[in-house]
Amino acid sequence: MERLRAQDPNDWRVATYDAKKAKRTRTGKNRKCSYCDEKGHNRATCSYLKEHMSTTQGKNAIFRAAIYKRFQALGIGVGTIISSDRNMQRVDPDDYESERYRVPQVITQICWDNINFWNKTYTYFDKNAPYLTKPLTKIDVKYSSDADETSAAQYEDGSHWRYDDRYTFFAEVESPVTADAPPAKWFDSVGRAIKALYKKRTKWEGAL
Ligand SMILES: [Zn+2]
Repeated sequence: MERLRAQDPNDWRVATYDAKKAKRTRTGKNRKCSYCDEKGHNRATCSYLKEHMSTTQGKNAIFRAAIYKRFQALGIGVGTIISSDRNMQRVDPDDYESERYRVPQVITQICWDNINFWNKTYTYFDKNAPYLTKPLTKIDVKYSSDADETSAAQYEDGSHWRYDDRYTFFAEVESPVTADAPPAKWFDSVGRAIKALYKKRTKWEGAL
């Protein structure tokens, strides 16, 4: 383009190029930030968004420190055996009048990114679960005969256990372990979880 301009500054292609460029700059200046609605910047450079995210981060850091203390006190980590009324089986599967017992569950994964103060819908069985578990008895019970690759993978990682119900059950620790150390920077609460939280928020909602 610059070579063309040097040859003939009045070339129509040069004029079109300049007009388009000027329009881009104009609309860029007029574009509103989708977080605060002010002009002249975008979400990436929005000072309100930055400030609100940092407020949320500070609160979450306090929350995570408290939760981790509970993990340590209760002995929650990979390998902890827990039980709850969510997973019950008959003592005699063929006798529907026989007593029911809690099927012990072993924690197979701590979902560190889900442990946030704004996560109000912990059910232990949905995508917000703080950890995944697998049952220690009756391990075949949820394996459907028409399993496809997806459900096979869910069976592998234990996530299929979340599918049935969305009730909250109180889990009790049957056999504690030494709590695992969280990933690096988890206590600072920086990164993915907050970015995802603010992705669709706007300034009028304020800092969470
Ligand atoms: Zn803004």
